Amino acid sequence: MGFATTAIHAGQEPDSATGAVTVPIYQTSTYAQEGLGKHKGFEYARTSNPTRLALERNLAALEGARFGYAFASGMAAIDATMRLVKAGDHVIVSDNTYGGTNRLFKRVLANYGIEFEFVDTSDVTNVEAAIKDNTRMVFVETPTNPVMIVTDLTAVTDIAHAAGARVVCDNTFMSPYLQRPIEFGVDIVVHSTTKFLNGHSDGIGGAVVLNNEDDASWIAFIQNSAGAILSPFDSWLVLRGVKTLALRMEQHDKSGRAVAAFLEDHPKVQKIYYPGSKSHKQHELAKRQQKGFGSMVSFDVGSLEAARIVLESVTVCTLAESLGGVETLICHPATMTHASVAPEVRERLGITDGLVRISVGIEDTDDIIADIDQALGKIGK
Ligand SMILES: *Cc1c(COP(=O)(O)O)cnc(C)c1O
Repeated sequence: MGFATTAIHAGQEPDSATGAVTVPIYQTSTYAQEGLGKHKGFEYARTSNPTRLALERNLAALEGARFGYAFASGMAAIDATMRLVKAGDHVIVSDNTYGGTNRLFKRVLANYGIEFEFVDTSDVTNVEAAIKDNTRMVFVETPTNPVMIVTDLTAVTDIAHAAGARVVCDNTFMSPYLQRPIEFGVDIVVHSTTKFLNGHSDGIGGAVVLNNEDDASWIAFIQNSAGAILSPFDSWLVLRGVKTLALRMEQHDKSGRAVAAFLEDHPKVQKIYYPGSKSHKQHELAKRQQKGFGSMVSFDVGSLEAARIVLESVTVCTLAESLGGVETLICHPATMTHASVAPEVRERLGITDGLVRISVGIEDTDDIIADIDQALGKIGK
């Protein structure tokens, strides 16, 4: 089956009781049992729910994995994944990972004896050098936000597996339509479904997908034990969103390319960060590993004042955090998404005061470009 067919059908048979084509929202906390120990596979809705189960099967299929679990947020999914390691274990992490991941690891989980080491995983020799006897996991994100650093999934997986460590990849930025990490040997894929998978900026959610049966049983056990489940309604929203994932990603990718090309040639733009650009250091790797470049484009206009003018002059683009929705969102990483990152780290990564990040939506491409153009035109006036 092709991707779009899988997206629309996997995990979703017409309802056996009524024939409903769309999986219903099973808004129930419990299920009637026919007799002691006799039930239809559902006992209590924290443990399992048919709407959530349909989504879990669907997301697993899209990533080419056997098992999927849906959580209340991307962070809840990542938190559950980290229950695969324990006190005394060493975890290597991409140093430019999502801010919330950085916060969870450094400020919360490090208190429980898990040792985190942040390295630039775009150079795999850094991963190799960081491996220790107790390394049990390598957690990567690719491309990263907002400066689009790409990590070679095959190379990192080879190194981690040789050391007996699992590889986790946060695939939120690409979605399984543009990148399927399990095909490169990655063990576990995590998602914030809040972004491209749901795609409509109307729900928070997360997912973990994987192939290893023992690890999957443990994730299921954690999901039931800690209980950070995705609700039936939110599961239904993501199922609905995923049905158009292939179409949306095609358009996101197309407009992303057009916006990046426009910015690259614009006199007010000093630098762009976009894996699809030939000026991107890892353009060849991105081409090899991804089916497209996605819709995240960052660009530097040189100063906070210039960035402020752009951000406050746009009318089609919306000034907001988050990404991956149908609407174009524009933000200022240094003061918004990455405000908690230490200034010297921001400096090293290129998250300057003049950096602006766009999540290119699926409005008419010409309208998006015209809006950015008129906003850039206000700089220096
Ligand atoms: C948003 C995001 C998360 C966190 O997801 P939530 O749904 O907001 O909890 C994790 N990783 C990446 C790359 C993200 O963009």
